[in-house]
Amino acid sequence: MGSEHYDLVIIGGGIHGVGVAQAAAAAGYHVLVLEQGELASGTSSRSSKLIHGGLRYLEHGQFALVRECLHERALLLKNAPDLVRLQPFFIPVYADSVRSSWLLRAGLTLYSLLGGAGKDTRFRRVPRREWAALDGLKTTGLQTVFQYQDAQTDDAALTRAVMTSAQTLGAQLKTQATFIAAAGLEDRREDCWKIRYRQHEQEYTCTARVIVNAAGPWANEVLARIASTAKPVAVELVQGTHLVLDGKLARGIYYLQSPQDQRPIFAMPWQLGGETAGSAILLGTTETRFTGNPAEVHPLPAEQEYLLETYRCYFSETPNIRAAFAGLRVLPVPENQNEYKGKNQYAARQRETVLQTDCPGSPRLLTIYGGKLTAYRATAEKVLHKLQNSLPDKTALADTRALPLKHSP
Ligand SMILES: Cc1cc2nc3c(=O)[nH]c(=O)nc-3n(C[C@H](O)[C@H](O)[C@H](O)COP(=O)(O)OP(=O)(O)OC[C@H]3O[C@@H](n4cnc5c(N)ncnc54)[C@H](O)[C@@H]3O)c2cc1C
Repeated sequence: MGSEHYDLVIIGGGIHGVGVAQAAAAAGYHVLVLEQGELASGTSSRSSKLIHGGLRYLEHGQFALVRECLHERALLLKNAPDLVRLQPFFIPVYADSVRSSWLLRAGLTLYSLLGGAGKDTRFRRVPRREWAALDGLKTTGLQTVFQYQDAQTDDAALTRAVMTSAQTLGAQLKTQATFIAAAGLEDRREDCWKIRYRQHEQEYTCTARVIVNAAGPWANEVLARIASTAKPVAVELVQGTHLVLDGKLARGIYYLQSPQDQRPIFAMPWQLGGETAGSAILLGTTETRFTGNPAEVHPLPAEQEYLLETYRCYFSETPNIRAAFAGLRVLPVPENQNEYKGKNQYAARQRETVLQTDCPGSPRLLTIYGGKLTAYRATAEKVLHKLQNSLPDKTALADTRALPLKHSP
């Protein structure tokens, strides 16, 4: 088959793959994304769908991550108003809550400062007279309710919108296209990869100056099929389950705390489309170590019970489960594992994205590990910055900070 040449070939059509495609196309590069299924068919359609700084990361001192995510949240609210919307978040504090009112007030103050202290970062105490309007939240033992704002999105729709933006700048996408293997091309152009992929049962090849491995939970599996000196980063896969419940939360998102291990659980309003159209509640998430084939991740009965138990602590009704889904976090294994021994070891882990290359000075292969949906654009710009010595000079076509993102079906 004919072999087309690209500046970058990106493996994976999740938020990171399409984010890099958008940034690379905006910088003027010739880009191809290979996705084995459909866009966002991996983790990027199974997240909690929050565009947020992550209030809870403050507890673990991840200030840079929170600041970056809040900055990206502000950009997305501006560039993607159809897709990313602010929501009120409510944090109820009961007599037996682990996090006290003063701790939450301090955390919310810091969160607001890291977000630039603008109007979107303000918070307040909800007056007692308004508690009855909080979607049936139990009030026995309730001491305080804080309200602040963060944003919600449809993660799969956001991924599609970023890819559409990349395509308008010239990027190409092949779905149902599975990356098979890559090796350095030694005969003609030594600084090229020869890439093999399969689409609709036919094998194709193309060449590229640089490969970006954005295969999420499959990253090390993909890396093993590339003939390079890049060392895989040791990662753990940690699954997170969400339940879709019958019901409606009219006021906003509730920031709950599991009675078992005090982990935060979100109860969020969710709008279902298609045949099951209507209002629902999205409840999640869990942290369960996963081993096996990422394609086979699925919600476990114990996770469903853990989530419902939390919901029942805060709301008197137990709604029916309409659906459930699970996604996989990619968490690099910390060098000093003992630091994280004991309670909530996954919650305390650093969530910064790791960008691993085959050669720091002039990388030709870069693998993305971990990361946040919220920070995809900032991550993509960092990826391009790392790759700049390996890519030809091009005239930029656009700036990703100002590119509008439109909802497309
Ligand atoms: C439970 C959970 C909740 C989360 N909640 C939030 C949140 O609320 N807010 C937030 O900011 N972040 C959140 N995150 C993090 C965020 O969802 C992820 O960081 C992000 O979606 C990862 O995107 P990705 O592109 O790296 O991976 P993926 O979305 O998994 O994409 C990888 C893609 O690579 C493809 N692929 C794999 N192998 C091949 C191959 N051989 N050939 C071609 N294609 C291949 C896969 O099909 C897949 O589509 C959450 C994560 C989890 C697990």
